[in-house]
Amino acid sequence: MTKIYDVIVIGAGPGGMTATLYASRANLSVLMLDRGIYGGQMNNTAEVENYTGYSSILGPDLGQKMYDSAMRFGAEFTYGNVERIDDNGRLKHVVTDAGEYDTKTVIIATGAQHRKLNVPGEEEYNGRGVSYCAVCDGNFFKNQTVAVIGGGDSAIEEGLYLANLAKDVIVIHRRDQLRAQKILQKRAFANDKMHFIWNAQVEKIVGDEHGVTGVHYRDKVTAEQHTLPVDGVFIYVGLQAMNDAFKNLHICNDQGWALTDANMATSHPGIYAIGDIRADSFRQITTAVGDGGKAGQEVFNYIQSLDEDITTE
Ligand code: FAD
Ligand code: NAP
Repeated sequence: MTKIYDVIVIGAGPGGMTATLYASRANLSVLMLDRGIYGGQMNNTAEVENYTGYSSILGPDLGQKMYDSAMRFGAEFTYGNVERIDDNGRLKHVVTDAGEYDTKTVIIATGAQHRKLNVPGEEEYNGRGVSYCAVCDGNFFKNQTVAVIGGGDSAIEEGLYLANLAKDVIVIHRRDQLRAQKILQKRAFANDKMHFIWNAQVEKIVGDEHGVTGVHYRDKVTAEQHTLPVDGVFIYVGLQAMNDAFKNLHICNDQGWALTDANMATSHPGIYAIGDIRADSFRQITTAVGDGGKAGQEVFNYIQSLDEDITTE
């Protein structure tokens, strides 16, 4: 007989891992699925210093600690790129590229992914000087010059990480003010290796057979065109919702983020959404973790309320 899980958690970022911890500790059968390694966006984060309990911890290390605690109570974790969730009422059917599963509840924790800048050269030099992950690729640019595009927390925090490695880090921002938290701004302005080009729209990334050689941008005030010679380009221009897995459920707003109530419930009974994928998420590790704890408890309450005639194995 096909196994029917109590809970399938889709996504093994901080939200999904916390939901897995709570639900499995409540003695529910839990399967957590991810199409990559556990850790989510934390794998692309150099240093986390705003997660309670740690003055500073590397993103991948925090991911490993969360995974270890999430798996302590018997949950299963397996690879699967989720392609569809069918809501068949009291049972949900989850379709992945590696298998199909039945479950009483689903917690969607698919998070977000970096947005592309969509300029010529971005695709061509991706992996040959263009990167979206300082912690993964920063080491290739030791004592070299890199551009960071964007002005939010990611651009400035990861720019500061790159400043430990590179000769110079040039932040190119489309406005004359950063969006990043003030504490990050203060550090960036005080760092001799960090430089800023304001009101600049990047229009092209240029290179040769060896990789990136420069960034072509337009000064939005003077309309002048410039080419800045750099060895690498790190792009941090915001996030896009990872909603491929559940488009068929029609639970997203116009921007693609999932709508839930305060209990993380979507409009489909038994299907919850947590963390960055939620429309009104603050998009932090702490908030993803908080959502995960809440949903882990809510699935327990929901399952208790179901009639007991669904066979669990
Ligand atoms: P995610 O971490 O995005 O994880 C989602 C998971 O779902 C991924 O593993 C993905 O592979 C998986 N997935 C997606 N779609 C599917 C599918 N169809 N099938 C199977 N699996 C799927 N926050 C802080 O609080 N402090 C920081 O210092 C900090 N630094 C950051 C630095 C950077 C560069 C970035 C990008 C973000 C940073 N953040 C930081 C934000 C923080 O990482 C996120 O808010 C948090 O990771 C969101 O957690 P999540 O569980 O909602 O989703
Ligand atoms: P973000 O906050 O959306 O910032 C994106 C930046 O890119 C903005 O400065 C934006 O400019 C710029 N931008 C957007 N589209 C652009 C384009 N087409 N061309 C040029 N520039 C463009 O994204 P993020 O920095 O990745 O942060 C995402 C979430 O993760 C946030 O909630 C953030 O707080 C969180 N995060 C937290 C931490 C931390 O707590 N330490 C670290 C990283 C990320 P404008 O400013 O003009 O809009």
